[in-house]
Amino acid sequence: MTARITHWINGAEWAGSEERSGDVYDPATGQVSAKVDFASRTTLDAAVAAAKAAFPAWRDTSLTKRTQIMFAFREILNARKGEVAALITAEHGKVLSDALGEVTRGQEVVEFACGLGQLMKGGFSEQVSTGIDVYSIRQPLGVVGIISPFNFPAMVPMWFFPVAIAAGNTVIIKPSEKDPSASMLMAQMWKQAGLPDGVFNVVHGDKEAVDGLLEHPDVKSISFVGSTPIAKYIYETGTRHGKRVQALAGAKNHMLVLPDADLDLAADQAVNAGFGSAGERCMAISVVLAMDTVADALVAKIAERMPALRTGDGRRGCDMGPLVTGVHRDKVAAYVEAGVKAGATLVVDGRNPVVDGEPGGFWLGPTLFDNVRTDMTIYTDEIFGPVLSVVRIHSFEEGVDLINRHEYGNGTAIFTNDGGAARRFQNEVQVGMIGINVPIPVPVAYYSFGGWKASLFGDTHAHGVEGFHFFTRGKVVTSRWLDPSHGGINLGFPTQS
Ligand code: NAD
Repeated sequence: MTARITHWINGAEWAGSEERSGDVYDPATGQVSAKVDFASRTTLDAAVAAAKAAFPAWRDTSLTKRTQIMFAFREILNARKGEVAALITAEHGKVLSDALGEVTRGQEVVEFACGLGQLMKGGFSEQVSTGIDVYSIRQPLGVVGIISPFNFPAMVPMWFFPVAIAAGNTVIIKPSEKDPSASMLMAQMWKQAGLPDGVFNVVHGDKEAVDGLLEHPDVKSISFVGSTPIAKYIYETGTRHGKRVQALAGAKNHMLVLPDADLDLAADQAVNAGFGSAGERCMAISVVLAMDTVADALVAKIAERMPALRTGDGRRGCDMGPLVTGVHRDKVAAYVEAGVKAGATLVVDGRNPVVDGEPGGFWLGPTLFDNVRTDMTIYTDEIFGPVLSVVRIHSFEEGVDLINRHEYGNGTAIFTNDGGAARRFQNEVQVGMIGINVPIPVPVAYYSFGGWKASLFGDTHAHGVEGFHFFTRGKVVTSRWLDPSHGGINLGFPTQS
């Protein structure tokens, strides 16, 4: 019998039944491994009611107690991260070592949020006027919603929920229906860590559950990560319903290689960042901008590294796993076809790869295009697969201009040994996260993650101080403890004296 994955509401697996469900695949075999319940509005309402009921006690739980629970969760996660990674590989397909890396990066945010005592501090000014003090405090929002994508089923939720919970909010997460199990395991870990029931809830589903979150008056904020068209919809709908929204979106990350760069290092990193996780990373490099003087050598170096990559089942020690679904694999393969038709040079063709895995898996091998033009769909669109495009350029300025003219602005990298060029690059590119000889510049947890342009809707990035800001509201208190000298009538506007 196919396993069933259901919601986690008020500290337990949900006991009801749903009319609708979705298939969860093992992408390395192509088999359906489970059915996941799709929440109706009624179920969503029950989850919001549980989170709302848990909020008053959780927001009043002392910072000391909250910190202890955060530490306990961190310890459990650290001890059981292999289990989370195994679930990710089984449903997403990325190789086990990559899945472990994902959990570790999520754990960093948990560790950051353990410092909530420091992060929740306000300010205090004594004697701003005679006998008057002013201080600021930050308070949680209430019930907050998190909607996450398939490509990081543990890390992306952990960009948000550790901070939201540490700040005193209660959470409803709607994971991707493609790989819902990691969230369920983390829900059990929270319970084990002593988090009160109702503070962390998981509701599975599709648009119906998402719309329920967007429209529900008791949900105060939405943190979304996913593709750009959906992110735009989430931002517009959520804000129209009076919510605070941060919607992180799609990407097309360029890597600019200057002639003075170490070309072997650049080729290694282009391969790692282009094909890691089968290119299903929002920070994957999908375009290499090669200066014409070194382009031939760079393309040759990238191409000569690719045959060594082993594509196959992520549980077998391969370098690259399958794509997440058959539909997605076919979509990526169609881009390869379109690139060939448009006249790009197909240097390495990943269609029909030799794989270490079952024939039914959603396979597509690493693919390299050269002589890509900026009007081709393989350049304009986010492909989200193991397809790397080389665009040949003639100057530094042309490279920066291309990056700035692209719709997306999530991440970018420059490879050079020229500090002045790198400094100019970081100053001039219209992108949120910059790598200097670092191909995947995902910020550490105490900085904030987020792109520019069509890669982010809203103004607040994830985690770091901005994360705490997003999940709290400010109050300023002006206080005076009266004594007889404060008497008397004065209708004028208060000024300092
Ligand atoms: P997606 O947009 O298809 O789905 C994201 C979430 O939205 C899922 O939970 C899904 O169930 C829900 N959803 C899907 N269609 C919906 C609809 N019509 N109405 C309401 N909700 C809907 O994205 P995905 O395929 O899961 O993830 C890949 C995308 O996420 C890529 O575009 C990638 O660049 C992006 N991403 C961005 C970042 C970032 O930080 N900028 C990080 C990771 C992934």
